[in-house]
Parts: sequence; structure tokens; C-alpha cells
Amino acid sequence: MGMVWRSRVRAVVLLLLVACLGLAVAACSEASAGARSRQPSATPPTSAAQPTSSAPRVESPSPAATSVGNATAAPPWLGTRVLPVGPDGSAKAQTTPPELRDRSIVTVDELPPPADGRFHPTVRTVPADVLARSSWTKACPVAATDLRYLTVSFRGFDGLAHTGELLVNARAADGLVSVFRQLFSANFPIERMRISSAAELNGPPTGDGNTTEAFACRPVRGQKSWSQHAYGLAVDINPFQNPYHKGQVVLPELATAYLDRGDARPGMAQPNNAAVRAFASIGWPWGGDYRSLKDYMHFSANGG
Ligand SMILES: [Zn+2]
Repeated sequence: MGMVWRSRVRAVVLLLLVACLGLAVAACSEASAGARSRQPSATPPTSAAQPTSSAPRVESPSPAATSVGNATAAPPWLGTRVLPVGPDGSAKAQTTPPELRDRSIVTVDELPPPADGRFHPTVRTVPADVLARSSWTKACPVAATDLRYLTVSFRGFDGLAHTGELLVNARAADGLVSVFRQLFSANFPIERMRISSAAELNGPPTGDGNTTEAFACRPVRGQKSWSQHAYGLAVDINPFQNPYHKGQVVLPELATAYLDRGDARPGMAQPNNAAVRAFASIGWPWGGDYRSLKDYMHFSANGG
């Protein structure tokens, strides 16, 4: 081979190398953009060699779209996939989707978070507009005047302080403020705390809800008698991390990954942990101690 030919080969190899490197860098940026999970890329990646895992995340105007701390954005399908129900109106327990196996989702603020990041409670009679969007009707076993509207600060899985709302029985209001104060101090994470409407309570199941709540005008699961929730005398904490389990029935239906109570993950109520201790401090037993079934999310005044 002559010198000219050889140098031409060298030039082609060099060109190919440069092209390959360019492709590799492009692929790398794609991958890191994907890992940032739907974070809008307003600025192009500056350097592919820069580690992205330790880089501080930019706050976007929509907190739902990004990761914050150890929490990730909700998968886009959350709350949208209706499960097929059998003749008895319930859906079968399902394998937990990978995105929810270690569920740690950013809280979307529905009420203004505490400006100083500290715990703030409010207790008042139930405003008419709140009652109207709740599941309360005259058929419920508690008078609206015997309920209280609570707002309390809570710690999200994102580590931030948020404000949640609860309807509770008037005689439990002060005790529950104390419970949520303790949970906040202990940094016990809660994903969402808001009042459900009758339509939400009775709507078709998606099996992936995770709303912490107290009053809900409904019967005991599988029975005709009123649940303690219908009196505002029971609280469910992080239902997804703390499912109800009786035989083949798991609620929420997609929360089967959390039946393994030996695998302790954030937001779970566990024997003698912060959640169980906080409710025990006001004398409320835990559904995780039931023998005939397990209701890990459930705490109530009378143990029922
Ligand atoms: Zn409950």
C-alpha cells in the first residue's frame, strides 16, 4: 500500500471514530434525559461526562413533573386504569407494577404548604363547601355539626412539608392533631391527605389510590354495618403502603407488594413504629394487630 492510500485510510478511520463518538454522546444525553423522568430539558446537557445523579435538580413550576429528594413523579397512568370488577363489585388483587413496588411519589400541593416548613394545625366546624364535596349526607350516622374540619401539616415522601385536610369526629379532633404533630416530628412520610367525595369512594377501582383520610360515609368492608370511618372515628394512613388483606382480598388491589411486611419501606405502619406509637398515644388501636384479617392502614378510637 502506498503512503497516500494509507493516510486516506487513517483519515476515514478517524472520521468514523468521530462520528461514533458523536452518536455515543447523543445516546448518552438521551438516556440521562430519560432518567430524569419527564423533567423538561430547557437547557441542553452541558457535558455528557458530568455525573447527573448527584447534580441538584432544578425545580420546575409543576412539582408533579419532577423528582424531589427520594420521591419521583407519579407514573402518568396513576389513577386512570380501571380494573375489571367481578359480580360482587370488587376487583382481584394484582401484581404491583414495578413503578409502585417501592412507592415514593412527590406530593402535589392541593392546599398551600406551611410557609415556614413547620407544623400548623387548624380545627373548625365544617364549612358548607367542604361538606358539599365530602361523602357526607343526612343518611350518615353522624351529624355534620359533630364533625370537624382539620388541616394539618404533613411530611411528604419528597421530604417537604405539605398541608392536608381531614374530616373527623369532634371528640377526636384534638387527639388527632396530636397524632399528626407526632408524625410530622418523626418525619413519617405521607403521600396525600384530602377529603374524598362520594363519587370517589364509590367509583370504579383503579387499585392504586393512596389517600390518607378519616371520615368516609361507608359500611365496614364486606358488611352492612357502618364503618368507624362513617363516624369520623377512624383514620387510614397511606393505604397503598398499608393495604387491607383478608383471604384473597387486597385493597388497594395493586398493593400486593406491600403484603410483605418484613420488607420495611417508608410510609409503612409497623409494630411499635412512629405511626403505631402516635395513635397508641391517644389510645387508638391498629388494624395491623387484628387476627382474622389485616387492615394495616387502619386506626380507630374503639379498635373496630
Ligand atoms: Zn380504615
